[in-house]
Amino acid sequence: MKILAEHERESAPTEPDQTAGSPTDGRGKVYLIGAGPGDPELITLKGLRALRMADVILYDRLVSPELLHEARTDATLVYVGKGPGCHTMPQEKINATLVGFAKKGQSVARLKGGDPFVFGRGGEEAQVLVEAGIPFEIIPGVTSAIAVPAYAGIPVTHRDYASSVTIITGHEGKAASPEINWEALAALGGTLIVLMGVTSLPKFTLRLIAGGLNASTPAAVIQEGTTPQQRVVIGTIENIAERAAQAGLTSPALTVIGSVVDVGATLQWYKQAQTAL
Ligand code: SAH
Repeated sequence: MKILAEHERESAPTEPDQTAGSPTDGRGKVYLIGAGPGDPELITLKGLRALRMADVILYDRLVSPELLHEARTDATLVYVGKGPGCHTMPQEKINATLVGFAKKGQSVARLKGGDPFVFGRGGEEAQVLVEAGIPFEIIPGVTSAIAVPAYAGIPVTHRDYASSVTIITGHEGKAASPEINWEALAALGGTLIVLMGVTSLPKFTLRLIAGGLNASTPAAVIQEGTTPQQRVVIGTIENIAERAAQAGLTSPALTVIGSVVDVGATLQWYKQAQTAL
């Protein structure tokens, strides 16, 4: 297994190598694979199969390290993770690297945390592959939005408590993306799941209350869910920001809002030390 160091990543192929097989010869292909939320056993069989046969693996920060042991011993591993405040490989460079390896005729596993199409930029990467004429497959994954609450015992829907679930980003990035209407979300009811929202927790909980959501609505913040490091803080939308800060919760974490959080108290099942069945 070859792991590319930072300086080598700079020289990873981003231009087609004219001497190598073209994607039309049927060899070069990209698999956009959902790696699941953290517990390595939550990858799909299809994802694991694609990972095991890949020549090159481009993986994100939230991908379970254990999954990388599934790589072929001669596979090239490229870390393209983005951590809050860390050095990041720009998205354009990731796109170019995917295209570059595929055009060299390589089988590329693009391994993403959770599901590639849920806040994973999988859509953007697939569009780039279409433009470059690279064959690809999407292999969905178990999204943290649903699996992380499940490991905290929280069903995201329940016939008696919530008939809808809304997945939202707490990180309002580009100016071009429409601003989130938290007031409308407050009126919507059902379960709200906020990803990438640890730092904006004080802001959006206030806006939900301002929008009319009852201040005593149950809320939970779950850090590193589905892993032995899982931590859960429970409260209401009025005090959850303070409680999460006091507990020192940091990314990756998500927030669950709605009465299903109370159900979680009765459905505790996950023991961090639990071994595989
Ligand atoms: N595509 C991913 C989401 C990527 S956005 C998916 O489907 O799961 C990254 C955000 O996902 C994090 O900021 C966090 O809010 C959430 N997340 C991912 N893994 C998590 C985990 N193990 N525990 C808690 N939150 C997690």
